[in-house]
Amino acid sequence: MKNFTFLMLAFVFFSCEKKSQNTENQENTKNTDAVIQKVEINQDCAHCGMPSQEFPRSNAKAERKTGSEIWFCSPRCYFVLRSEAKQDTAFAKVWVTEFYELKKIDAQTALYVSGSDVMGAMGHDFIPLASEKDAQNFQKEHQGKRIWKYTEINAQTLKEALSAK
Ligand SMILES: [Zn+2]
Repeated sequence: MKNFTFLMLAFVFFSCEKKSQNTENQENTKNTDAVIQKVEINQDCAHCGMPSQEFPRSNAKAERKTGSEIWFCSPRCYFVLRSEAKQDTAFAKVWVTEFYELKKIDAQTALYVSGSDVMGAMGHDFIPLASEKDAQNFQKEHQGKRIWKYTEINAQTLKEALSAK
């Protein structure tokens, strides 16, 4: 029911937004579209197959260079797929859901805390934070084990971070 309410609100937001679009507003529209697409499209996690829209607190999205997009239920699934497929260069941009405000932020500039008491859609996860300060606060509040940069997360470190607790 909660998810349904979220979708309804998002839909209303989307409808209003669409009406206000005009050609002078191109710049804004682009940014808004990126956010809106997450509720408009219902896609399953490219790695585990779960419906990513049922996990608005943790889902992630990647846009291919061709413009098409793929979704993930969690940063964990994104990082696992990325480490397995080695196709990071195929993505023009990746967004993850920031923990405190649930905003989609650039996955490459986000910081990630592993080993915390916050579970993602698939269990232990890398929880995305927008700044060093947020990451440190989160680590304290949720017994996080370590703060990671995007580039530090690979097949090897994934294993260490997700199995250790
Ligand atoms: Zn998944």
